[in-house]
Amino acid sequence: MSLAHGRPYLAIPGPSVIPDAVLAAMHRASPNIYEGDLVDMAAGLVPDLKRVARTEGHVAIYIANGHGAWEAALANTVAPGGRVLVCATGRFGHGWAEMAEAMGIATEIVDFGRKTPFEPARLAEAVARDAGQEIAAVLAVHTDTSTSLRSDIAEMRRVLDEAGHPALLMVDCIASLGCDVYEMDLWGADVTVTGSQKGLMVPPGLGFVFFNDRAAEVRRRLPRVSRYWDWAPRADPEAFYQYFGGTAPTHHLFGLRTALDIIHAEGIEAVWARHATLARAIWAAAEVWGEGGPLTLNVADPRHRSHAVTAMRLGTPHGARLREWTEREAGVTLGIGLGMSEEGDPQGRGYFRFGHMGHVNAHMVMGLLGTVEAGLAALQIPHGRGGVMAAAEVIAGG
Ligand SMILES: *Cc1c(COP(=O)(O)O)cnc(C)c1O
Repeated sequence: MSLAHGRPYLAIPGPSVIPDAVLAAMHRASPNIYEGDLVDMAAGLVPDLKRVARTEGHVAIYIANGHGAWEAALANTVAPGGRVLVCATGRFGHGWAEMAEAMGIATEIVDFGRKTPFEPARLAEAVARDAGQEIAAVLAVHTDTSTSLRSDIAEMRRVLDEAGHPALLMVDCIASLGCDVYEMDLWGADVTVTGSQKGLMVPPGLGFVFFNDRAAEVRRRLPRVSRYWDWAPRADPEAFYQYFGGTAPTHHLFGLRTALDIIHAEGIEAVWARHATLARAIWAAAEVWGEGGPLTLNVADPRHRSHAVTAMRLGTPHGARLREWTEREAGVTLGIGLGMSEEGDPQGRGYFRFGHMGHVNAHMVMGLLGTVEAGLAALQIPHGRGGVMAAAEVIAGG
């Protein structure tokens, strides 16, 4: 017997759960791409996206995943032969750096490892070494989805301003936008990249690059930008097709329209508060489980934990066995340990992650935690009793 029959729950950190209303909005015949609903809708998406990123700047939309948005951000700001500094708090920081290298950009990494948070002093040192101010941009990942470390973007801005360094501050918010508090303008990010399939609750396939006037000016000074990635016509189109450099991502746009309506009906601050409380419920359960067994939260200090994803370690073989059990026996798919290789565990199978981004609420998180607790018991993995109760107390307390 398996208890998995019924509605499955993909609790991995992206793609996230898609609201039924978003799926329903996408379920339609191909729309006309020259006039009508689709064309009328496009202009309204822009201000509603900017309200999610909290910016008065510009946004370019690409048919691309997050990797495409990474490339787009770099293509518009740093010429081949230029230099960037990357603050890495996990696999995705290194991934963006590799993207830059492949574009002929020299890359210096300030590596904070996989458990310890971004530290302003180390960025300040790296910036101070750049006496000639050759670094064109500092790249940062707000929430690194592999480690679940969240970085303090406002502090990065402060470091750059105190050093009087003109580098652009470019932030990967692919995992955090629409989940964790993010204030692009207030915090002083010049460029923000994200994708559709995490906090925005739309299937993978749209990449977004938000940029301010300072970044737009940097773009204008580049000798050339590859045509597809050029953000200028997308952010300031004279014709509908220019938004997308060709055929529009028709169905994704209807899905996005509905997702933005859902976000703004709740209110972005309420969305942030919901994610914060659900994250605290998860941590409360994990901390209790860890009191009686090997489970540990990857990030020790709650101030540096993401509200969208939680990485945990159970050690081998428990981590992989737990994931197999929850999926096979209960219909809940947990995230793999990504980029968490360690001695004796080259694949990071001792790690696993919960995705809790976007369309998640209290009963889903309680179901997730209850299932994991059942899995720990079924597999006789030692753990402290009462994790679900601890989470319920957080939920009860609001
Ligand atoms: C998911 C993710 C990416 C990669 O996005 P893709 O759509 O898979 O290309 C990059 N950075 C972060 C922080 C992510 O969470």
